[in-house]
Amino acid sequence: TAAREVTPLPPGSCIGILGGGQLGRMTVLAAARLGYRCHVFCQDRAEPAAQVCGQVTAAGFEDEAALASFAASADVVTFEFENVPAPPLAVMAGRVPLRPEPRILEIAQDRLREKDFLATIGVATAAYAPAGDAASLAAALAQVGRPAIVKTARWGYDGKGQVRIGAGGDADAAWATLATRGESPRLIVEGAVDFEREISVIVARGLDGATAAYDAVENLHREGILVRTTAPAPIPAALAVEAQSLAARIATELDLVGLLAIEIFVTRDGGLLVNELAPRPHNSGHWTIDACAVNQFEQLVRAITGLALGSTERHADAVMDNLIGADVARWKELAGDPAARLHLYGKRKTRPGRKMGHVTRLTSRE
Ligand code: ATP
Ligand code: MG
Repeated sequence: TAAREVTPLPPGSCIGILGGGQLGRMTVLAAARLGYRCHVFCQDRAEPAAQVCGQVTAAGFEDEAALASFAASADVVTFEFENVPAPPLAVMAGRVPLRPEPRILEIAQDRLREKDFLATIGVATAAYAPAGDAASLAAALAQVGRPAIVKTARWGYDGKGQVRIGAGGDADAAWATLATRGESPRLIVEGAVDFEREISVIVARGLDGATAAYDAVENLHREGILVRTTAPAPIPAALAVEAQSLAARIATELDLVGLLAIEIFVTRDGGLLVNELAPRPHNSGHWTIDACAVNQFEQLVRAITGLALGSTERHADAVMDNLIGADVARWKELAGDPAARLHLYGKRKTRPGRKMGHVTRLTSRE
């Protein structure tokens, strides 16, 4: 559903990207294909996105002079991670359009605000309650029931900053684990969902208000880290469509310009509970590079430059496996496998739990 008439940024314009990880790297590659230049702002020139980008600023996120000249060089700025600290957001404001807008980051950066927002627009989530000390944690646990998952409201990723409380577990121990360094973090206590499976949907929303959603996919996590995405998710067609509409509705309610990934639990009775929002490219969308007409990274570029969104059509079924830590040692064998599409992120150091690359296998569409 297109609404507004917009003038797109012409090819040759510069897209600023805050963050230098693999999501930024794949965005730079997609932007280049459409004739856009990119300028990556990251800590170090060795980072994955900086390696493939024509213009790089390697500086700290508190370096206001570096941020100001970065802003001046770009026609539009986006980010490849949610946890963008406050200074870059403040420096971009009034200088260059930031897409998605910072008010959306403020929601997605904070699990409590995120869940409150979803509640406001009538989207179902796990039961949750806030906590800020050992006593309120015990009260929140009594409210949502056991088993529960306690998470820090901010700064978590890949399952970090989370503690599960089972039938016998106690609130004081969870508090002691999460309140490290004597700080008192804001916490969210969530009822643990006994899900049938986890799925996600990535939706793009253009400057003109049009939306385009990719097929719902199934995600498998191990120790809090995504290991495999299967596209499409093996769920009834009606449920897949419902998940896509839900994603489009959330993007529209947010008045988002860019990409939004929504992580969803499918409950055993076939309901959908939203777990998380990520207003950026998402690991569970990497399969779109090999299996869709226009992939998630190109779609982000299209959305933020004001181009028409592309087709999200899936021309093949896909299974995407992350190469985590030592998995990447298999690069030679994977590169030699004609059924495998290998993507490596150029990270020099392999560490346990670190996403080093991914491999996508296509099969003809069912
Ligand atoms: P990521 O960066 O991979 O998205 P994250 O650190 O942001 O992870 P979540 O997505 O909240 O954290 O949680 C990671 C995983 O832990 C989920 O994908 C799910 O498998 C499990 N999990 C989180 N919350 C719940 C819940 N309320 N009930 C059941 N499982 C949960
Ligand atoms: Mg998640």
